[in-house]
Amino acid sequence: MAEKVKNLILGAGITGLSAGHHLKRDYLILEKENNPGGLARSKKIRGYIFDFSAHLLHCRTRYFLNWLQKNLNGDLQLHKRNAWVFSYGVYTKYPFQANLYGLPKKVIKECIRGLLTIDEESANREKNFYRWCYKKFGNGIAKHFLIPYNYKFWTINPSSLTTEWVDGFIPQPEIEDILDGTFDYSRKEFGYHSKFFYPRNGGIEVFTQKLVEFCRDRIIKEEVKELNLKEKWVVTEQGNRYRFHNLISTIPLPELGKIILDIEKGLRKFFKKLKYTSVININLGVNRKEMSKKDWIYFPENNLIFYRVGFPMNFASHSVPQGKSSIYIDISYSRWKPVEKEEILTRTLTDLVRTGILERSDEIEVCDINDIKYAYIIYDKNWNSAREEILSWLRKHKVYCGGRFGAWHYLSMEGCFLEGRNIALELKDV
Ligand SMILES: Cc1cc2nc3c(=O)[nH]c(=O)nc-3n(C[C@H](O)[C@H](O)[C@H](O)COP(=O)(O)OP(=O)(O)OC[C@H]3O[C@@H](n4cnc5c(N)ncnc54)[C@H](O)[C@@H]3O)c2cc1C
Repeated sequence: MAEKVKNLILGAGITGLSAGHHLKRDYLILEKENNPGGLARSKKIRGYIFDFSAHLLHCRTRYFLNWLQKNLNGDLQLHKRNAWVFSYGVYTKYPFQANLYGLPKKVIKECIRGLLTIDEESANREKNFYRWCYKKFGNGIAKHFLIPYNYKFWTINPSSLTTEWVDGFIPQPEIEDILDGTFDYSRKEFGYHSKFFYPRNGGIEVFTQKLVEFCRDRIIKEEVKELNLKEKWVVTEQGNRYRFHNLISTIPLPELGKIILDIEKGLRKFFKKLKYTSVININLGVNRKEMSKKDWIYFPENNLIFYRVGFPMNFASHSVPQGKSSIYIDISYSRWKPVEKEEILTRTLTDLVRTGILERSDEIEVCDINDIKYAYIIYDKNWNSAREEILSWLRKHKVYCGGRFGAWHYLSMEGCFLEGRNIALELKDV
C-alpha cells in the first residue's frame, strides 16, 4: 500500500525543513540521516561543540532576522568579524584587497602599481573570473591573493570559472579604500559576513532544531532510492512507496538524477555537466587556553593544505570546556584535485605547527573528521545552461527543486530558508 501525500519533501536540511514549516500542513519529509538538519547540524563531543566547519548566520533580509529573533528567544548573539589572511609569513586583515597593511613592501608595491591596470568598465562586462580579478583589482592583488586563493578553494583554474557568483561574495572596495588600507588597518568593514549571528548556547543546530520542532512529526527517516515521475511515486530503502501530488526536492541534483527511473534520455548529458567541490572538515579540541583571538584565517598559499582555519571558541565561548580551545580546518578537494585521505590529518597537524597555530606539546583531546561531498557548486561555463535544462524539465513534472544542492546554486542558510519558504508559498494553493 502506498501512502498518499500532497507535498512530498526530499531531504530535511534547512531548505526542506523551511518548506515544511511554511507549508504548515499537507506535507511529509523523507530524510536519510538519523538526525535532520543536513549540513546545519552540530556535534557535541567530550564537552566540545562543533558544526560542520563553521555555520554562521548572515541576515540580509528582515524576514529572516525577524524569524530568528522571534523563534530563538534571545539565544542569538551578534558578532563583529575578526578574520585574517596569512600570506608571505604575515597576518593581514580580511579582506586582503582592502588591507595590504603589514605585507612585505615588495608585495604592497606590486599591488599598488597594479591599481593602474584596473579597468572598471571592462570588469563590469567581464564574464571570466580570472580576467575579472585582474581588471577589477589590478595585477598585484590578483596575483598575490585572488588567483591563488580561488585556485586553492575551487580546486580548478580560476580561468574556468565565470563571474556569476562574485557579487555578494567577493568584497569589492573602491580604490580609495584600498589605499586607505595600505598605510594602516582599514577602518571600514567589507563583505557579507562583516557581522554575523551565532547562537549564544549550543552550535548552529540551535537554529536548525527550531525548524525541526515545527516539522518533527512529519519527518520520516528513510532514504529515497527510486523516483517515478510519470506515476508520481518514490520508493525508499525500506521498500515503502509514497505517492505525491507535488514533489519538493532538496537533495543534491546529481543524486536526484540517479534515482529518476523515467528520466528523459537527452537530459543525462546535462547532469554530467554539474560540477562541485568537496571539503574535508577537521574539528579539533585542544587542551590549551585561548590558542588564538582570531575568528578565522584564510590561507591562499599552496604549500599549506588548508584554505581556512577557524576558532569557534571566539564566537561561541560555551562551545569548549573551560580553559580549552577549538579549531576547525577546511580543505578543498575534487576530482580535479584529489586528496590522500589517509595522509590528510598528519599533513594538517604538520601545517598547523608550521603556521604556529599548534604547538608540538599541545594535547589534542578531540579530533572529528567530516567528509562533505557536496560543498560548493562550481560556476563554470556550463553551470547555468545545464541547471536551467534540468530544473525546467523537472518543473514540467511538478518537481520543485530548492536549496544549495537541490537547486544547484551558491546559497547560504538564509538563502535556503527563503527558498524553502518561496516554494511553500507557491504550492500552498496548488
Ligand atoms: C564548509 C561549508 C561551510 C558553510 N558555512 C556556512 C555559513 O557560515 N553560513 C551559512 O549561511 N551557510 C554556510 N554554508 C552553507 C549551508 O550549509 C547550506 O547553504 C545549507 O545548509 C544547505 O541546506 P540544504 O537544505 O539546501 O541542503 P543539505 O543541508 O545538504 O540538506 C539536504 C538533506 O537531504 C538529505 N538527503 C540526501 N539524499 C537523500 C535521499 N536520497 N533521501 C532522503 N534524504 C536525502 C541529506 O541527508 C540532507 O539532510 C556552508 C557550507 C559548507 C559546505
